Amino acid sequence: MKRAPLKIAAYVFLLLVATLLTQIGGIIIVLGTIAGLLVLRRWFRPAFAVIIGTALCYGMALLLVPLLAQSLGRESLPWRATDTTPLRPRNIGFCLLFRNFTTPELAELLRSTSRDFAKQHDGYQVDYLDACFPFRFGGRYTSGMLPHLSHWDGEKVDLCFVYRDRDTGGPARSPSAIGYFIYENPRAGETAHPSNLLRWDMAWLQKLGRDSQLDEARTRDLLKLFSQNSTVEKLLLEPHLKTRWGLSNDSKIRFQGLRAARHDDHIHLQVY
Ligand SMILES: [Zn+2]
Repeated sequence: MKRAPLKIAAYVFLLLVATLLTQIGGIIIVLGTIAGLLVLRRWFRPAFAVIIGTALCYGMALLLVPLLAQSLGRESLPWRATDTTPLRPRNIGFCLLFRNFTTPELAELLRSTSRDFAKQHDGYQVDYLDACFPFRFGGRYTSGMLPHLSHWDGEKVDLCFVYRDRDTGGPARSPSAIGYFIYENPRAGETAHPSNLLRWDMAWLQKLGRDSQLDEARTRDLLKLFSQNSTVEKLLLEPHLKTRWGLSNDSKIRFQGLRAARHDDHIHLQVY
């Protein structure tokens, strides 16, 4: 009996983490718990019934949430690239955690630009990272996605830079499996900014996954394709890369400042 408060605290903590990570994970667990205890308990031990109930609710959510979100104005970005739409998540986790939703207009921009990019660079695809959650409740503090609260209105998405295989020279994925935190640091003579509470250094990660190499020319082409589109409001990039890639005159490509995450591991795209 003495362990009951501890179990309740652990359960509440789990709900909180699931909600922060996925927006609807807490609701899925509560519904799964109810289904487990009311229905599945007849056949399984309580803990097992709750786990099975939650798994079933999660499976149903994967099918139903995109339909519900669509009726409320958000679209699920593709789970995998195809010949007709060369757009995919860097990691399937973005889809499994419901972090791949945007407005239909932004989804269409991503699809059409990925096609244009693949036409220019045969065999290349556009990899996306965090977009937005499926539903909008209030403003950025209630609908925003940690750690980037600006991703709240369906009009923002993060994208990978373009990489090539260090040995073959062919297309490669981002060196970071989650797409973030492996940086293209300033070179000697380029503007460097110190790390701070919001600009994480992650020095210990920087040696990982270096079979792939940043493809600077193709990343610049991808930035230009987006920047030329009239629906794009801005693209966030670190100043040393903007200068290095000769994009200094492009007013849509901006520095977010020192009170924000670094943008030398990914591109932040937002539309009007
Ligand atoms: Zn972003």
